Amino acid sequence: MEAILDKNGLKRWRWGRPWVFRDQVERFSGGPGDLVEVKDPSGRLLGTAFLSPSSRILLRRFTRGPLERPLEEELSARIDAALARRRGLEERGECMRLVYSEADGLPGLVVDRYGPVLVVQTLTAGMDRLAGPAADHLWERLSPRMILARNDPAARNMEGLPREVRVLRGERVERLRVPFGRVRVTVEPFSGQKTGLYLDQAPARRLVGSLAAGKRVLDLFCYQGGFTLEALAGGASSVLSVDASARALRILEEDARENGLPRPETLEANVFRLLPGLVREGERFDLIVLDPPAFAKNKAQVPGAERGYRELNRRCLQLLSPGGVLVTCSCSYNMDRGRFLEILRRAASDAGKAGLQVETVPPGRDHPVLLSLPESDYLKVYVLSDVEGTEMGEEPERREKKGVPGP
Ligand code: SAH
Repeated sequence: MEAILDKNGLKRWRWGRPWVFRDQVERFSGGPGDLVEVKDPSGRLLGTAFLSPSSRILLRRFTRGPLERPLEEELSARIDAALARRRGLEERGECMRLVYSEADGLPGLVVDRYGPVLVVQTLTAGMDRLAGPAADHLWERLSPRMILARNDPAARNMEGLPREVRVLRGERVERLRVPFGRVRVTVEPFSGQKTGLYLDQAPARRLVGSLAAGKRVLDLFCYQGGFTLEALAGGASSVLSVDASARALRILEEDARENGLPRPETLEANVFRLLPGLVREGERFDLIVLDPPAFAKNKAQVPGAERGYRELNRRCLQLLSPGGVLVTCSCSYNMDRGRFLEILRRAASDAGKAGLQVETVPPGRDHPVLLSLPESDYLKVYVLSDVEGTEMGEEPERREKKGVPGP
């Protein structure tokens, strides 16, 4: 079984791109999930890759050069390397991503740990075949109570794989509460969003906790309140937490109580509809977290997503009290950093906020970015601090209409 790259495919392989698209391959043989030999147009061996004949991403690199040992041995060694890379992240509590796909040399394999529970996703045909051996190895290394296959993402469709959720090893654990940062949080591995929690936001949660003392906080798109709970633990004077999911808000209220924290004010609402009213009523917050879902799921959705981000960020900046801080996020990988920053510039100008300092929060070490795979650099978190601290006068829109330039 082999795949012969064309000139374009070869160039990209040499750059280190871990994906080869269908139109970069001259011809191939093999079936879904096979590990095939990858060759240059003259037939020289370049390495090995998993084949996904039904996907636009036809090949996912596994090795450069030949595979030096049996496939399952290599799989176990790479899982061990991924676990070793996460040592020293104990301050994170018991929740973290243990294996992150290409960035850990295991294309299509995601393993998230919630204390004694491991949630696994095998998102490619190649990795799906290795689900059994991967589960055996994780079972042996970590002795969890449950290993759950949370294989419901739509990405499986493109690989011709069924969408399913099932226990691979151990007992059924529907709900548990585990340490995450400074608090204990509820996780529902079978039904929670993603694999249960948004583990990728751990570094930003920590930052929000450290900024929250005495602050009036607004947590938008809060889900189960990852940011809210850290803010309360960090001494926020009040938190208003907004999400469209009533279930997530109930869990947040329970978790606040269980942690002995003050009660957050929760609001089930569509953030887009809520914000204009808050602005009109003259509400102000010292610290705002804006963490919407991915608006740009593909390139065609980028223009609409840009409008959405601009509108949300403008509103949030209008709601910021003098000297306040906005933590603003985008998890759309189709929206690159440069573009997102440009949207923030426009939103700041729309809102008449000129003196904003910007910092970034890098992704956590459990969510490594692969330099040659820009798609893995999907999460952008910017911290905008209003250093000028001037209260806005009139609504900037009105000022613009009168033809007077903003500050
Ligand atoms: N900040 C969260 C993760 C947010 S994920 C954390 O750190 O855990 C995005 C959330 O937005 C989801 O919980 C989803 O229910 C919610 N959501 C999606 N569209 C929404 C809308 N228009 N208004 C309010 N909430 C929305």
